[in-house]
Amino acid sequence: MDIRFTNQTAIVTGAAAGIGSAIADELAMSGASVIVVDLKAADAEEKAAALRDKDGKAWGFAADVSDPGAVEAMVAFAREKTGALHLLVNNAGIGGAQAPTGEYPIESWQKVVDVNLTGVFYGMRYGIPAIAKAGGGAVVNIASILGSVGFANSAAYVAAKHGVLGLTKNAALEHAAQGVRVNAIGPGFIKTPLLAANLDDATQAFLAGKHALGRLGEPEEVAALTAFLLSDRASFITGSYHLVDGGYTAQ
Ligand code: NAP
Repeated sequence: MDIRFTNQTAIVTGAAAGIGSAIADELAMSGASVIVVDLKAADAEEKAAALRDKDGKAWGFAADVSDPGAVEAMVAFAREKTGALHLLVNNAGIGGAQAPTGEYPIESWQKVVDVNLTGVFYGMRYGIPAIAKAGGGAVVNIASILGSVGFANSAAYVAAKHGVLGLTKNAALEHAAQGVRVNAIGPGFIKTPLLAANLDDATQAFLAGKHALGRLGEPEEVAALTAFLLSDRASFITGSYHLVDGGYTAQ
């Protein structure tokens, strides 16, 4: 059975590139009205225009998810344009510096935690009341396999992603009665601009071999799981962490 999001509004953060872009495609092509959020207004608007060209309903909005005022405005924008908010995907994230914990740059720690963990909190802090007001809906937080296992030289990223799992569980418990389901996704290494910017070709080839399926993932493979968790087909799923990792953490 096809998943449809007719008459539902979704916010996707970090939606101009990579995994967020694939999620925006999947939701818009399944009938959702999509608010494409990214750091730069031009990037967000370009992606929204591309969705509209494919007969999707989409609007671009510039917000830094680590800025609570911008996140509050993002939710207000969704309600102003479409009347309500039903679905939220907290996807925006950054890699950060690579160094052992004993040498980790303080500024990079702060920045990664601000975007990858506090940004997810802000999304839910302002998004969940709007979703509840609409009568219920769902949130998906894009964590990582590094939300459940470590990865040397990535202390800030690993700690922030582990934090996203705890935050997901808490929000799910607190807002179930309002009809809001909250889940987290743990992608393995996925072919996106973030991966290309942080890891050289040799490292990417090495990491491909760490997945049981012997390759890196595609953004569309994360988008498919996201759409399922947002949909009514996942009506009994909340507060949990779902891997799309090609078997990386099975070994
Ligand atoms: P990406 O290719 O770098 O795309 C992320 C998008 O988010 C970019 O358009 C970026 O804008 C935007 N962005 C960055 N910081 C932002 C902020 N503070 N506020 C709003 N937007 C912001 O990243 P990706 O690989 O698709 O990753 C998306 C999510 O998946 C992240 O949470 C990441 O941690 C997670 N993830 C990725 C992988 C992977 O292997 N790729 C694996 C597991 C989990 P700019 O381009 O202007 O910076």
